[in-house]
Amino acid sequence: MNKLYADIIIDISHEKLDKSFQYEIPSALESEVTIGSRVEVSFGKGEGRKITGYVVNISEKPNWDPAKIKPILRVSKDANAIEDQLIALAAWMKSHYGGTMNQALKTVLPIKKKENVLKKKEVTLILDDKKANDVYVDLVARKNHSVGKERLLKALMEDRQIPWDAVTKKLNVPTSVIRDFEKSGYVRITEKREFRKPTDKIEGNWTKHHLNSMQQGVVDTFVNDYNQGIRKPYLLYGVTGSGKTEVYLEMIDHVLKEGKQVIVLIPEISLTYQTLVRFYRRFGDVVSIMNSRLSPGERFDQFERAKNGDIQIMIGPRSALFTPFPNLGLIVMDEEHDDSYKSEQIPRYHARETAVQRAAMANAPIVLGSATPSVESFTRAKSGEYTMLSMPSRVENRPLPECEIVDLRQELMNGNRSILSMSLQQEMEKRLQNHEQAMLFINRRGLMGFVSCRACGHVVKCPHCDVSLSLHKNGKLTCHYCGYETEKPAVCPECGSKYIGGFRAGTEKIEEIVKERFPGVRTLRMDADTTKGKNSHQDILNAFSNGEADVLIGTQMIVKGHDFPGVTLMGILAADMSLNVSDYRCAERTFQMITQAAGRAGRGDMPGRVIIQTYQPDHYSITSAAAQDYEEFYKMESTYRNLMNYPPYCHMLSIQITSEMEPEADGKAKMLAEFIRSLGVKVMIFGPQDAGIAKMKDIYRKVIYLRHTEYDLLVEIKDKIESLLLENNRYRNAHVSFDFNPMNGF
Ligand code: ADP
Ligand code: ZN
Ligand code: ZN
Repeated sequence: MNKLYADIIIDISHEKLDKSFQYEIPSALESEVTIGSRVEVSFGKGEGRKITGYVVNISEKPNWDPAKIKPILRVSKDANAIEDQLIALAAWMKSHYGGTMNQALKTVLPIKKKENVLKKKEVTLILDDKKANDVYVDLVARKNHSVGKERLLKALMEDRQIPWDAVTKKLNVPTSVIRDFEKSGYVRITEKREFRKPTDKIEGNWTKHHLNSMQQGVVDTFVNDYNQGIRKPYLLYGVTGSGKTEVYLEMIDHVLKEGKQVIVLIPEISLTYQTLVRFYRRFGDVVSIMNSRLSPGERFDQFERAKNGDIQIMIGPRSALFTPFPNLGLIVMDEEHDDSYKSEQIPRYHARETAVQRAAMANAPIVLGSATPSVESFTRAKSGEYTMLSMPSRVENRPLPECEIVDLRQELMNGNRSILSMSLQQEMEKRLQNHEQAMLFINRRGLMGFVSCRACGHVVKCPHCDVSLSLHKNGKLTCHYCGYETEKPAVCPECGSKYIGGFRAGTEKIEEIVKERFPGVRTLRMDADTTKGKNSHQDILNAFSNGEADVLIGTQMIVKGHDFPGVTLMGILAADMSLNVSDYRCAERTFQMITQAAGRAGRGDMPGRVIIQTYQPDHYSITSAAAQDYEEFYKMESTYRNLMNYPPYCHMLSIQITSEMEPEADGKAKMLAEFIRSLGVKVMIFGPQDAGIAKMKDIYRKVIYLRHTEYDLLVEIKDKIESLLLENNRYRNAHVSFDFNPMNGF
């Protein structure tokens, strides 16, 4: 048998990750050493010194003279160190999602940057009051005495400790004077590491809600399991407004009392001040948050605080999953269905699966919460893999909003060409008269260039895949899944109308229309453009919450998790736009979006009303969302997925090939497809074909899709491709990457 060699990193600070050293794996250790193992090696010349390192790669190829490669001494087994846990998680991510171990480590380990460390220096008087006074009298009595010394000593006699900055800037005392005082033994200079804290400005108190029996039942199940040592994943399926957050708070409270730490994952977009305040008021200073607006330094500080035990709860988007809590006791993932949990950077991990994995490794439970669970999670909960916890009604029995579906084809037939249906206009009129608020939601996902008929709503679809075709710049319609291509029709193939084309409408356009229709109306807009500034997102929400506008017009951003008691009307302008995206998940996304949007209306004392405008009033994602009936939706959707071999019934691997030179990308894609076929495994292979976006920034993109019921089989194929690429140099100008169960077209 061939000898095996391991690449080992001996320093896991971020900037050193790319530097690895090769060691031989002695045959006695072969079964023990895996990627991610912590090992002991001798480092340096001759005998060297013994140090620990981590295995990042294993191969049969020595990088230089095998006689000079030292052996691994032993494998360490202390799995309690938090670094070890995170590195083991990175190894799992590498094997589960592809990419290199370094890429996985960089995702998991915090960025360490020395210059970002904040230090606070202080000057402290160490003389007692009497002695200080003597020195002062003595000093002032001197001729030509230093005014700086006089000022500093006087100030120190009032406040014994003064920050260095205040001494040099406010008191304007030169540093030489401070040093002089230090030498004379008057003062001590201390340095304290200061951590940035994002929760500094929160005030107010927590008011306890008495949990209703439904909430209490869920908490009891969790707590009983916990006390019996049961650690597993739960799906908390609760309608919008059922009080999921209160339930999380109780669960967290229980785990904290056991001396453990908690990670709360929230989609970045719904991580608002409101959410933070709810957690902070309940748990105080042990809470911290992370978001993409924190600088790397601030982020590093957060992680240090977590490691030191200064904080016990970390709230944040998917990257908060890697908080180095040494004693993790619970992971909560709110809005578990959200797309933002999937990373688009290599490794393209899904935070939900990775969180389930981290929880299992830490022997901690995980609670996935949603009003519209992902088909994946709901399927797992039904099969018993996750435990289902459900909350089917709103707190205080507030009614779910009343939904009306408006058929836009009918509107056009009735001569209304406005994007606001008659029904929506009437309802808006009423709100304006009653000084209530309305929200208009534009489903921007649909702005991706599908082609539909304005007369009958027909959407041009691929005959092989049941996804809509995308209009490319060259005027052709293409299927992102199988590569099918056809000319854009001049008239609707269904009804012959010439009103067929791409559908586009932005918030600005809608605002114009609303202002024209309702002169004097006060509007606010919220979309990617209006929320570029650091706090603009929150400013708009606050302004609307304070009643500074009658109508809030926005994209996805307005539907996530905000609580506006004054809103009694939600208009969903083109609900089915997202149905026409070429993606097998489009019905799920549409259902989620409408349900979440509808959930925004009627959260206060006044009942809410929702108007769903659509060209496809009969589509199950629309009708079941209007009825707020998740289970009906799930029934239809899972049948469809099952029938079409889509996840979760089949797993998908997208192999993406990119190159600046088209023949390279093309050649490599064909070579890989042939290689996969030669493996003789029964896997469904689609392609190679142009990617949905065939060229991006002058890079050509090809893709091969594989589908199989066994995830591990796809991982095996991925591993074989990775080995092939190491040996085979053909088409070396083309780059290959992997995306398992992709969430977005490529
Ligand atoms: P969800 O996350 O399920 O949509 P929230 O946790 O945001 O629901 O709760 C909705 C609203 O109901 C919030 O304003 C919350 O303060 C309130 N609430 C939650 N639980 C209770 C309760 N037991 N009694 C009264 N109000 C509650
Ligand atoms: Zn038509
Ligand atoms: Zn197709």
